[in-house]
Amino acid sequence: MHDVIIIGAGPAGLSAALWCDDLGLDTLVLESGDEIGGQLKQVYNRIENYPGLNLANGHELIAQISEGIKDKDFDLWTSVEIESINPKAKKVFLRSGEELQAIALIFATGVRRRRLGIPGEADFQGRGIIESATRDRQLLAGRDVCVVGGGDAAVENALLLAEVCPTVTIVHRSKKLGARTAFLQQIQNNHCLTVFTESNVTRILGNEAVEAVEIVRKDALKPFQMAVGGVLIRIGVEPNTELVRDQLQLDDKGYVLINSEQETSIANVFAIGDVANPKSPTISSACGAGATAAKVIASRMNKRS
Ligand SMILES: Cc1cc2nc3c(=O)[nH]c(=O)nc-3n(C[C@H](O)[C@H](O)[C@H](O)COP(=O)(O)OP(=O)(O)OC[C@H]3O[C@@H](n4cnc5c(N)ncnc54)[C@H](O)[C@@H]3O)c2cc1C
Repeated sequence: MHDVIIIGAGPAGLSAALWCDDLGLDTLVLESGDEIGGQLKQVYNRIENYPGLNLANGHELIAQISEGIKDKDFDLWTSVEIESINPKAKKVFLRSGEELQAIALIFATGVRRRRLGIPGEADFQGRGIIESATRDRQLLAGRDVCVVGGGDAAVENALLLAEVCPTVTIVHRSKKLGARTAFLQQIQNNHCLTVFTESNVTRILGNEAVEAVEIVRKDALKPFQMAVGGVLIRIGVEPNTELVRDQLQLDDKGYVLINSEQETSIANVFAIGDVANPKSPTISSACGAGATAAKVIASRMNKRS
């Protein structure tokens, strides 16, 4: 029996773990990946918006966090496969058959990139489909490319690709791009960029690597193919809430609903970080939520808080 089991070792889960440890709570962190950090592994931009930090990318932050937790007393298990959880009983069942129990559970499983789910998407990962223009744009230099999505992330990546690619076509399913005004102004001034709104990419085609995309436009009679040498997909994220889908109250997009103490619809089950925060998914929000949950748990257990 532990005081607290935390599921997920991204910034939220690890912030909670540090606070729980500091407050004298016996804490176990369970992470499905083979290393800590969560989305920080995908951050190739500078991190300059967390007070006191000015780091080249998420990997630098992971290194600092690893250093900071190495002498702490909480347990951290990576590559853990959770079969199911019983939030009311505060039990976690592992695929290995092991059963774990705590007084409080903290759910910190974050979000994952949404996929299009179209033919070719899985086949051409790393063979013309890139994940990040900051990291990979030189791989597509000199090629015509397609960016799928219309939010900040899609448009920012398109602008970066336009620095090295002759043409960049943004394909977005809605009537208008949802990116911030500064990005939209940059698009207007960039003759390499074309925007297809009310349009969907329905297939990614090629042999050894990406050679074309199939596009369906609302005002076109039939799908057409556009030759491209690269694709980048940024169509948002979805929360990792499969484990609790029928057990905790979720919003209509699947995010965990919480109160001001980060507590879910079940007493002593908390949700922190992006999995419960569709509005301001940031490192600072995630870390703050971790501290809140730990302090609430400690005060309920009459530990120093
Ligand atoms: C490209 C990019 C750039 C970004 N840049 C910035 C920035 O500059 N500044 C900023 O503040 N934020 C930035 N963010 C957002 C920031 O990374 C997230 O807000 C933050 O990582 C959220 O932390 P989290 O712990 O809630 O979730 P995550 O980081 O998503 O971590 C969740 C963890 O839970 C684990 N997990 C999931 N399911 C299970 C399961 N069933 N069992 C066990 N473990 C599980 C995952 O493997 C993961 O390790 C960026 C994000 C991206 C993708």
